[in-house]
Amino acid sequence: MDALPGSTLCTACWSAALGGQGKFKLISQAYEVLSDPKKRDIYDQGGEQAIKEGGSGSPSFSSPMDIFDMFFGGGGRMTRERRGKNVVHQLSVTLEDLYNGITKKLALQKNIICEKCEGIGGKKGSVEKCPLCKGRGMQIHIQQIGPGMVQQIQTVCIECKGQGERINPKDRCEDCSGAKVTREKKIIEVHVDKGMKDGQKILFHGEGDQEPELEPGDVIIVLDQKDHSVFQRRGHDLIMKMKIQLSEALCGFKKTIKTLDDRVLIISSKSGEVIKHGDLKCVRNEGMPIYKAPLEKGMLIIQFLVVFPEKQWLSLEKLPQLEALLPPRQKVRITDDMDQVELKEFNPNEQSWRQHREAYEEDDDGPRAGVQCQTA
Ligand SMILES: [Zn+2]
Ligand SMILES: [Zn+2]
Repeated sequence: MDALPGSTLCTACWSAALGGQGKFKLISQAYEVLSDPKKRDIYDQGGEQAIKEGGSGSPSFSSPMDIFDMFFGGGGRMTRERRGKNVVHQLSVTLEDLYNGITKKLALQKNIICEKCEGIGGKKGSVEKCPLCKGRGMQIHIQQIGPGMVQQIQTVCIECKGQGERINPKDRCEDCSGAKVTREKKIIEVHVDKGMKDGQKILFHGEGDQEPELEPGDVIIVLDQKDHSVFQRRGHDLIMKMKIQLSEALCGFKKTIKTLDDRVLIISSKSGEVIKHGDLKCVRNEGMPIYKAPLEKGMLIIQFLVVFPEKQWLSLEKLPQLEALLPPRQKVRITDDMDQVELKEFNPNEQSWRQHREAYEEDDDGPRAGVQCQTA
């Protein structure tokens, strides 16, 4: 078994999910509750609260059925009774993959019914009912939670681990050690279609772990798009930032953009047009292909960042020539009652009043704070 206890995510996906993707982890937990028949039974009998108390995780969604509907588009409740766990895997893709489409091979470990014992776990007739839980697979504990208040908590039977039955060690199947299933490697081909999105799910029906007397669950591949160095995606649109020089902003420019399918686009501004810092322009039909209609595409949105020249880029005597070409300055009226102050470079670390205040607040012995302030 390469799954962590109480989880349907494979170990590799778990480490990816724990690497900052809390959302994915939460959904997986919720998923686990709904795809595990035993936990679903607890839910049916005792509601969400019972799962929180009896289970390992405590998903913070409002109702597990909301999440269930999210995955199955509703109406899944009827078919869930006789099904095994669904297994969720994350598949890392680039924005290029989502633009051009790609087929990726993924090696999965899955449980299949043991061929030797045909899923019995041992010799025929060696299976007996668990004496601790009397075959229910669950144990019931009564807990006092306040005066006159008791709470009934169900947990998975420790003796049979929820199986409801056990096999004498000497009668156990040699191939599966009584587990009824064996672990096998399976390669699946994942077709990532043009226009698919980060977080989109690709379903492999019935490819989940096999379990005796249960219809196998599904393998669900969740696409995880890596950040792109140039483009950001927003729906069908692509957004990029483009630096232009001040001369280009004022006098016009011609620039090239390499697309996600390796074409080169040429963009240019109209003569006499002024591009301001932060201005947005767009190119139609150069965004992401639309899923299932890939000939249509969104927009490419370009945000321009104007690069100003460095200090002293122009000699002092040439400045009047430049000024003569630029729009006139704003006139300021100076009077004697105004104060002339010095304008300096701003450095947030030098904001002395803030340092003084923090030093004062951290110190419980008020009087000493004044001494600590002497940093300069
Ligand atoms: Zn076996
Ligand atoms: Zn038991």
